[in-house]
Amino acid sequence: MNQEYTLIKASRLIDVKNSKVINDAAVLLKETKIVSAGPAASLKIPTTANLKTLEYPNKTIMPGLIDCHVHLISLGDGRAGDDLNLLPDEILTLQAAKNAKLHLQSGVTTIRDCGAKNQTTFMLRKSAEMGITETPRLILAGRPIAIIGGHLSYFGSPATGATDCRAAVRQLMKDGADFIKVTATGGSTRTSFRHHASFTKEELTAITDETHKFDKHVVAHCASSEGIENALDAKVDTIVHCMHIERDGTFKYNKELTKRIVDQGIYVNPTLHAIRHQVWHLENLKKTKGLSEQEEVDYKSLRDVYENHAELVSRMKDEGVTLVAGSDSAWLNYKMGEFPHELEAMKSIGMAEIDVIRSATIQSAESCAIDDQTGSIEKNKSADIIIVNGNPVEDISNLWNIEEVFKNGATVTKEQ
Ligand SMILES: [Zn+2]
Repeated sequence: MNQEYTLIKASRLIDVKNSKVINDAAVLLKETKIVSAGPAASLKIPTTANLKTLEYPNKTIMPGLIDCHVHLISLGDGRAGDDLNLLPDEILTLQAAKNAKLHLQSGVTTIRDCGAKNQTTFMLRKSAEMGITETPRLILAGRPIAIIGGHLSYFGSPATGATDCRAAVRQLMKDGADFIKVTATGGSTRTSFRHHASFTKEELTAITDETHKFDKHVVAHCASSEGIENALDAKVDTIVHCMHIERDGTFKYNKELTKRIVDQGIYVNPTLHAIRHQVWHLENLKKTKGLSEQEEVDYKSLRDVYENHAELVSRMKDEGVTLVAGSDSAWLNYKMGEFPHELEAMKSIGMAEIDVIRSATIQSAESCAIDDQTGSIEKNKSADIIIVNGNPVEDISNLWNIEEVFKNGATVTKEQ
């Protein structure tokens, strides 16, 4: 069989491995894989009739975006997780399919889903494998492991004691989980205690130890310093939110925890816009309808939380923490297909554009343990590539303007 080659040419290509931009660049694909990339003039082009050439003047070639934190089943209509959970699995699975497509069309070729109800996301993957629906590359946790009544416990995997924790990991592995998500503190779940640690160190360690036995990684939700400390002791691989908050809800930067995060090589997904979008939502409401007394209180407190968290994330960055980009959409009102909001928020805390791009590609791939397959434009990696109008290294907001998306070498259909 003759193999198909595709040559993609553009004004520039972003080499995220070496943090540089290559002008007048091209990338050569052979079916689903990347053969070579670099200055167009330097590429060895096969002399075959099966070569298709695509040219994108004034545009940028870069790796497909990797959103390392999504919740595919969420509606993005503001409803709390406690209420989302009441919807039947069939509806949630359809919503997941819709969200997956939205994100893919917006240039996100890989997503790591950090928690869904029952088998919903596993069924989505099955449908995609059957060709029923098109999704980005899916890295799935399935159900998060939580304490009874703890954050996200309603999704179906509460566990108590080290033995139960190991059993929960084994069951998820059997169901098809690519990694384990654990809620190490409370969160928005009404029966949880937001800033208190949930699992004991012994339980959390049982979860990470059991997961690592399967060569998989653990992502821990931490909304307080107490949770971060437990997660560090248990040797988790990625911390999400990573909020330096005391039990009483006050922010207090903990330099020692930051040092341990750096020393242990743990990735931090700061979910900035996940907080900021709630501020924006209330700001909008204030302008259009006005706020109730309670909403006014929430607005002030959320603004405060965002400012504090953003400042502490900036300090973590300055002290050497590797930040990875993850939106946490479509939780609450943060709709999917709007990943650039998070990237703009990361830029706003003082990250250079190229570093934001790295955090949303190669570093995100590393934190998802898939950097051998995707995350950069390199020989033998999957052809997960996007074409951007303009230059996102000069202005990150150009990532709102995606011209074309290739997943595994195939262009993504743009209907709807
Ligand atoms: Zn989340």
